[in-house]
Amino acid sequence: MVEDDSGQKLSIDELRQRYEQEKRKRTRPDGMAQWQELSEELDRDPYVEPGFTRDPVVEETTVVIVGGGFAGMLTAIHLAKHGITDVRIVEKAGDFGGTWYWNRYPGCMCDVESYVYMPMLEETGFMPTERYSSASEIFEYSQLLARTFDLYPRALFQTDVTGAAWDDEAQRWQVTTSRNDRLSARFFVLAGGILHKAKLPGIPGIEEFEGTAFHTSRWDYAYTGGSPTEPMSNLVGKRVGIIGTGATAVQVVPQVAKVADELYVFQRTPGAVGVRNQQPTDVEWFESLPPGWQHERIVNFTQAVTGAKPDVDMVDDGWTEVMWVDTQKAADTPAEAEELERIDFEVMEAIRRRVDEVVDDAETAAKLKPYWGKHCKRVCFHDEYLPAFNRPNVHLVDTDGRGVDAVSARGPVVDGVEYPVDLLIYASGFEVTTDLHHRLGFDPVGRNGVALSERWAQGAHTLHGVLASGFPNMLLISLVQGGFGTNFSHLLSESAKHVASIVETCIENGITVIESEEGAEDEWLSVLHGVGFGGARYFMACTPSFYNSEQQAIDSRAARNLTYTGSLLDYVGYLERWRADPNLPGVFIQRVTDTAN
Ligand code: NDP
Repeated sequence: MVEDDSGQKLSIDELRQRYEQEKRKRTRPDGMAQWQELSEELDRDPYVEPGFTRDPVVEETTVVIVGGGFAGMLTAIHLAKHGITDVRIVEKAGDFGGTWYWNRYPGCMCDVESYVYMPMLEETGFMPTERYSSASEIFEYSQLLARTFDLYPRALFQTDVTGAAWDDEAQRWQVTTSRNDRLSARFFVLAGGILHKAKLPGIPGIEEFEGTAFHTSRWDYAYTGGSPTEPMSNLVGKRVGIIGTGATAVQVVPQVAKVADELYVFQRTPGAVGVRNQQPTDVEWFESLPPGWQHERIVNFTQAVTGAKPDVDMVDDGWTEVMWVDTQKAADTPAEAEELERIDFEVMEAIRRRVDEVVDDAETAAKLKPYWGKHCKRVCFHDEYLPAFNRPNVHLVDTDGRGVDAVSARGPVVDGVEYPVDLLIYASGFEVTTDLHHRLGFDPVGRNGVALSERWAQGAHTLHGVLASGFPNMLLISLVQGGFGTNFSHLLSESAKHVASIVETCIENGITVIESEEGAEDEWLSVLHGVGFGGARYFMACTPSFYNSEQQAIDSRAARNLTYTGSLLDYVGYLERWRADPNLPGVFIQRVTDTAN
């Protein structure tokens, strides 16, 4: 028995029904089509001066990397460790940092502990100031990484790749950009980001709004005043609306609540918000850490959040508490399935109880409670979000799962009530499961002139999500058939290490062409299906989200575009075993001598 929001005890059966009811309310026939792209104006980079120009670059390099976030930077760093520095990084932003370049909204921070999130702390000697670093600190750290490993001279910023084609004769990728560069490279690394393409809800009338509006990843401090570290003084006297209650909104709401006259939070599905418990770094502890500590801690954290239960839970925070048992896995017996379901209910029940403990108004508290399984969406951790709803200027506008009905020239409309606002903030997230070429913004053309969109028209074909048949010397870092994990930077570090090692192996062994074989890709797909079986059942019962492509029916295409849903450490094991095998199993290669013949 567990207790519901009115203090009534609910049986597991009743709770199961409640979850199903909440899921049904939110399952829409338009599925993924409910979203729309940002207009050019909303997508504009607010952090660079307009008018930047430079001469086109025409060059031949060993490697071109698309993306200057952690994945691209770490790939370049690992390549440099192998002595490969003839590398060009193309990045649409004005600096390194990826997600930490774009997300500068007030309150932005990383909810994964900084000591396991920020890569290469031992190499750089950097000590995060707090247990959970602010976005500003991580952005500055990205710049430090770039300086430390001399990446700046290799970057082309404010530059979009517009096209890339494999030239079979030259055995090179020919890459073009929005600044008329012509780059020719032996290896082409796609590290374009995981949460990189912002999206808007397709609410009727959204383009009619006459006030100021922006997406959280394009925060306009010129309008709000302040900065990521200073109060937004221009919001005094303003009415602000925020659409969304995901991980981003949870961080933004308390900051806006402090200054705006009125804040309306438009909610479709309540987020789950556990205890944060931010702490300054204990300098003595940090300085006493022995060599090799960071990798050990990173692995320990990933074990703890994937149900692998290390003897000692080194991080021991909200994440490890919530994820200690993997309740989405396939159970061996009905009794185990029941036990996993009970654990999941109890974890979420503790989160729901916290809402009652913190939020004064019982009606508001009831609306803020999430009724979905703990793996269905990303759980958040924050100590100021729920208390913000006790402020008289903060109003929760719950849409009972429907979403905002319309947007008028004056503001959002729900249940026939118009909420006039001066500023409308879209905390509406990013594309995650849309086609990779769409998210990249260009369509790589592989062997025989076949584009990625054509080759993958019925779903992806890869080995480990990294090599792809038909696309020689192209190396992918993405979620498509790749790994997944709570600590994205762990995933990106391991992927970057793998990609760099493949390039190094090719160069060392005179391999001019490498691509995966279709048979090996099929075997990899079987692995993905095998490990995804338990998760697929779990996600069918989940409320819609980007984790399950908004509950859109799984067609044969979606059944190929999976991630490895088992433990990230198991995924890393596949990569390591492949690297350790000198026969390079499952790939087609051509060597210098082959070409000479
Ligand atoms: P999300 O996709 O998680 O949230 C989008 C929000 O918009 C949801 O609450 C969604 O509701 C809501 N929404 C969509 N359409 C409507 C509508 N018509 N009316 C009202 N609300 C609507 O985006 P986020 O930016 O919050 O987070 C994306 C990801 O970014 C996270 O999952 C996480 O991986 C990452 N992140 C990580 C952080 C960290 O600390 N490491 C911090 C912030 C983000 P619904 O839930 O019903 O779909």
